[in-house]
Amino acid sequence: STTLVSEMLEEVADRFSFQLQQRKIEIVIRVEKGVTGLLLDRDKIDQVLDNLVSNAIKYTGDEGAIRLEARKIEKDMLEISVQDNGIGIPKKDLTRIFDRFYRVDKARSRNMGGTGLGLSIAREIVKAHGGTISLESELGQGTRVVFTLPIQQEEEDEL
Ligand code: ATP
Ligand code: MG
Repeated sequence: STTLVSEMLEEVADRFSFQLQQRKIEIVIRVEKGVTGLLLDRDKIDQVLDNLVSNAIKYTGDEGAIRLEARKIEKDMLEISVQDNGIGIPKKDLTRIFDRFYRVDKARSRNMGGTGLGLSIAREIVKAHGGTISLESELGQGTRVVFTLPIQQEEEDEL
């Protein structure tokens, strides 16, 4: 059945509300007008969102900010982005960041927990749904991950 995109994003934020509060990280959600109900594999897309938001929290300092955005782009695609103003990723690591088990400089990720699988799983899920995922990052400035999903409207959908 259809998923309300705004509801889906609010619920991700809710799942992390304890960590967000503890770290005093602010989360802002923006859903473009006109993005309403979509047919999505909700469990899988939640897995992608949880991975991206957990990364954003892990690699952002206290009192940082995370922005979750959804909008329509050309050819009936939905674009969802997760942006943080955290530690960023060095240029030399960007090409390998979606590889399985790849983690930037063990020293900084050692005490963070995790296996380095999150982004590779996210990419597999997004690809399996006919979308793409990419990441841009500036060391010391922050990171933005963007993924797309084809929009399939349910027929006779009243939304
Ligand atoms: P897991 O997701 O399995 O718990 P992980 O978070 O280390 O472990 P990925 O999500 O695949 O693994 O991320 C790979 C690496 O990319 C991370 O170890 C981290 O170094 C870097 N990274 C990912 N997201 C961010 C981000 N938002 N800001 C800075 N670095 C990031
Ligand atoms: Mg991760």
